[in-house]
Amino acid sequence: SLLQYLKLLLLLALGGVTTMHVPKQDVPSSLEALTLDGHFSFHDVSAAAQDFGNLSSFPPVAVLHPGSVADIATTIRHVFLMGEHSTLTVAARGHGHSLYGQSQAAEGIVISMESLQSNTMRVNPGVSPYVDASGGELWINVLHETLKYGLAPKSWTDYLHLTVGGTLSNAGVSGQTFRHGPQISNVNELEIVTGRGDVITCSPEQNSDLFHAALGGLGQFGVITRARIPLEPAPKMVRWLRVLYLDFTSFTEDQEMLISAEKTFDYIEGFVIINRTGILNNWRSSFNPQDPVRSSQFESDGKVLFCLEMTKNFNPDKADVMEQEVNTLLSQLRYMPSSLFHTDVTYIEFLDRVHSSEMKLRAKGMWEVPHPWLNIIIPRSMIHKFAKEVFGKILKDSNNGPILLYPVNKSRWDNRTSVVIPDEEVFYLVAFLSSALGPHNIKHTLDLNYRIIEFSDKAGIGVKQYLPNYTTEQEWQSHFGARWDTFQQRKKAYDPLAILAPGQRIFQKAS
Ligand code: FAD
Repeated sequence: SLLQYLKLLLLLALGGVTTMHVPKQDVPSSLEALTLDGHFSFHDVSAAAQDFGNLSSFPPVAVLHPGSVADIATTIRHVFLMGEHSTLTVAARGHGHSLYGQSQAAEGIVISMESLQSNTMRVNPGVSPYVDASGGELWINVLHETLKYGLAPKSWTDYLHLTVGGTLSNAGVSGQTFRHGPQISNVNELEIVTGRGDVITCSPEQNSDLFHAALGGLGQFGVITRARIPLEPAPKMVRWLRVLYLDFTSFTEDQEMLISAEKTFDYIEGFVIINRTGILNNWRSSFNPQDPVRSSQFESDGKVLFCLEMTKNFNPDKADVMEQEVNTLLSQLRYMPSSLFHTDVTYIEFLDRVHSSEMKLRAKGMWEVPHPWLNIIIPRSMIHKFAKEVFGKILKDSNNGPILLYPVNKSRWDNRTSVVIPDEEVFYLVAFLSSALGPHNIKHTLDLNYRIIEFSDKAGIGVKQYLPNYTTEQEWQSHFGARWDTFQQRKKAYDPLAILAPGQRIFQKAS
């Protein structure tokens, strides 16, 4: 990662956003000759060279707006048949919410997956209900459609303006993961266009190797064109609670107790507040403090506070049962007395909560800024060592953005998928979700990220990156560890020419 860090610094010094200029190759006129339901654009391609990270920009030669799954298969098959004589690569682009160019294809073809979403979504409300959604569908649309039947998926991400194919290519984690597993543990079936242009339906029973390869597969084995997602009855309301801790040990012990309890909350996350009373002031206006007078005295300036965040689903006619259950659970926790904040919101308001923040940030011009995020996974046995060094020492404030920290149960993850996780029964997801304004701030944040990783490596913390970002084969090999052989074999089987998702920088197309 040092190499990658130095490269980034160099590129930033050269002018901010990294733009790769490879010699322009001829746009294969043969692309235009393909018979498609949709179309290619060759000119207006700049949007496909942008992402949420806002740190990378690699323009493609063409963007495919597929009108059908067949268009995707035709295009990939065409590139496959061009063989090693062509340098063309193909990237599926979901909502482009990658951080370091992962959904881009320098001088290649970007498939705008959102063009596929249209009205193909189909809910089956039977005994084991499910929804069939396009790979380019946004999760928020999946939620709206399934709620019409009183149903909803079980496992979410914190933000729903992400695509089904995009999150399933990573894992899809949030406060429901401890109980239901990540989103990749909640899929019945996939339809995939492989790197040879074959359209294959797969599930745990049928073509299971491809099914597991694609889940958490970073787009390396095929384009997910459809996913069948199991559903559950959706609650109407959510009690949303936050409590504070000064002591990291009580905070994590309580989190771990809650994720292992049989009767527990429906969503459990947590975050770290370093030297930032502003966050608490925000809650004071939007959450109800249990004890308004004493809670107005909390401040974080000069301190590190840990916030445990939980929800309990309920329907209004059973609010009293929910109250009782919540109180029983709260009585087992060791948060600071009178630091309890709560609010009741609809299920959809809760799930779509980050979008409300997005609207506010957009209005201030603070959404489309660089996001040098760092997402990591830490084994439970090392979380204290990590926290001791990082919170308050390496990081002296949390002014750049939220820091999430919450444990999940490994038993809910399927070790046949491609995602890499630590080998411990419980592990923590830790997310440093920084926004950075200006080159100086970007450099400062990347520098802090680098120090966190450097410390973790030296201290033997056993950190794995989530939404991994590496540049060399050696780094990828070490990320995958014992699973590298399988990952490579699957690549050979499903995308032998390394056409797909070049922005992950794992494999180089032979040419
Ligand atoms: P893209 O960024 O467009 O694509 C991601 C990768 O998958 C690329 O390599 C792309 O080529 C490939 N890909 C895209 N579509 C397909 C497809 N159909 N088939 C095969 N490969 C495909 N993640 C979490 O797990 N939990 C969170 O709580 C969470 N919160 C987030 C909040 C915000 C504000 C943002 C910006 C991101 C968050 N993420 C979270 C990360 C998110 O999962 C990733 O950004 C992910 O890349 C999904 O974004 P996307 O759908 O835009 O996919």
